[in-house]
Amino acid sequence: MSAANGSAGGDPVAGRGSWLIRGARPLGAGPADIAIRDGLVTAIGPGLAAEAGAGAQVIDAGGLIALPGLVDLHTHLREPGREDAETVETGTMAAALGGFTAVHAMANTDPVADTAGVVEQIWRLGRQAGYCDVQPVGAVTTGLGGKQLAELGAMASSPARVRVFSDDGRCVSDAVLMRRALEYVKAFDGVIAQHAQEPRLTDGAQMNEGEVSGRLGLAGWPAVAEEAVIARDSLLAAHVGSVLHICHVSTAGSVEIIRWAKSKGWQVTAEVTPHHLLLTDELVAGYDPVYKVNPPLRTAADAAALRQALADGTIDCVATDHAPHPLEDKETEWAAAAFGMTGLETALRVVQEAMVETGLLDWAGVADRMSARPAAIGRLAGHGQPLAAGSAASLVLYDPAARAVVDPATHASRSRNTPFAGMALPGRVVATFLRGRPTVLDGKLA
Ligand SMILES: [Zn+2]
Repeated sequence: MSAANGSAGGDPVAGRGSWLIRGARPLGAGPADIAIRDGLVTAIGPGLAAEAGAGAQVIDAGGLIALPGLVDLHTHLREPGREDAETVETGTMAAALGGFTAVHAMANTDPVADTAGVVEQIWRLGRQAGYCDVQPVGAVTTGLGGKQLAELGAMASSPARVRVFSDDGRCVSDAVLMRRALEYVKAFDGVIAQHAQEPRLTDGAQMNEGEVSGRLGLAGWPAVAEEAVIARDSLLAAHVGSVLHICHVSTAGSVEIIRWAKSKGWQVTAEVTPHHLLLTDELVAGYDPVYKVNPPLRTAADAAALRQALADGTIDCVATDHAPHPLEDKETEWAAAAFGMTGLETALRVVQEAMVETGLLDWAGVADRMSARPAAIGRLAGHGQPLAAGSAASLVLYDPAARAVVDPATHASRSRNTPFAGMALPGRVVATFLRGRPTVLDGKLA
């Protein structure tokens, strides 16, 4: 198989050509061919050799599942400011290898993405890298300071067309400021994505507050610190008729509150991370900071409630919260270590393990929770489309029968802080296409 030979370099047409993907299983259904030309899916069905044209490059995809390109609502790319942890280029390489065709880049960079200038810079870096689309998230407050609203309108009308705003990493804890932000973004169909963490209740917190934190003697992070903010902000969003998205839901109680808010018809959506679906606070017992994350790993009962909520749609989507950190910030004593885990290169595999192998989601459900829903929540045009003739040819070919131990040394991310290192997980991303151009072929960057 020969890769199209584009120089990438930000040219959205470079490397495009005709492709014939033979015998893939769209959304896990029966085998079909997928013909791609000029960046679009031109046909899906049996025996499409003629449809793809004589010059088409052929991929034998027997046994592989075809999904629409994955969309991440929550990625920390670290550039500008912490290029020692990640750059837009390395982060988007990791994204492509994980099957993603678009990521939302969180605003807690240095400088903070709180002006039209910074979001435009990040958007342009994404286009230059070319591995996936980079949609900047704008900060809600200037400098993430929680004191005054950032230039939301200017970011929305910039070339980056920001629609999602978040102080992620910090909570917008001031209720008046949160109300104003929710009101402000209505003018341009924006969304406020809240990192729900009542700061006073989590001052100095190191892990989930519960039986394990008591045993280990680490300061606890109570579930109520998350749940109280979700309840307050759901009420605020309803009060002003605006749109709220809840980042990285981690507790069973949060699920109950979101279920209640949705039952009222309020415009509240939510995401869960792969690590909160699969891992629990018992892992902290070894004091390995690779398991230190914000919000913290919770109990097995919480993880079960999150899986159920993702299955029944109470939680809309999976978002990685990919949070790369250099070794010196993670391989230190627990209390001094940074919060965060990488996630782009393992997300789909973890979702297979937690949701598909358990019978909670089928592959159509995975496509909904990892592509269609996050694209809709992020107001991302051209992503999350069904695999159908006429759609953008942004898709992933995935081998669900593969199984391998996660080795961070093989990852494209500049950082190595994956909690799944050494764990055997199912699945392998074989190929990723972005608008008809392969970004990954044979499991490697194309
Ligand atoms: Zn966060």
